[in-house]
Amino acid sequence: MRVVIGLGSNLGDRAATLRTAVAKLRDVAHVKKISRVYETAPIGPEQPDYLNAAVLVEWSAPIADLLPELLRIEKEMGRVRRERWQARTIDLDILWTDGERVALPDLTVPHARLHERAFAVLPLLDVAPDAPYERNAVASQKILATDETL
Ligand code: ATP
Ligand code: CA
Ligand code: CA
Repeated sequence: MRVVIGLGSNLGDRAATLRTAVAKLRDVAHVKKISRVYETAPIGPEQPDYLNAAVLVEWSAPIADLLPELLRIEKEMGRVRRERWQARTIDLDILWTDGERVALPDLTVPHARLHERAFAVLPLLDVAPDAPYERNAVASQKILATDETL
């Protein structure tokens, strides 16, 4: 099945961080497509702007097995987990799959807040143009495509 993973960083060398995360994702899954890199104003508490991107991977194991890999990569990359929506070196979320929907206590796919977030929807559509989404929900948000490549 196809799975799209969203990447976000707003601390340190953000582009380098996203590149390292993509390299680590290549060790656990077959990365088939990489989105453009977007710059986005943060949600939640006052903090630096984010760089956001997404990768499309081919995944054949249960999707629930992917989450621990993402959490491990975040930890290896020095993410300190405090409260939700705080500044972080790296955030890896499962955004969408063309496989079955998931509603587990620790994992919801598609991501529960996907449709509210231009910084998730635009990278998603770069790598999976057929993914359904609500255009109106994200039309008003400020987001810029950058020249960075991953
Ligand atoms: P948000 O979920 O609003 O994007 P966040 O990414 O800052 O906020 P985290 O602290 O990174 O939140 O994650 C909290 C928990 O969310 C994770 O430990 C994980 O169990 C759960 N979770 C639920 N659905 C998903 C998903 N689709 N992708 C990643 N984590 C998920
Ligand atoms: Ca997130
Ligand atoms: Ca997360």
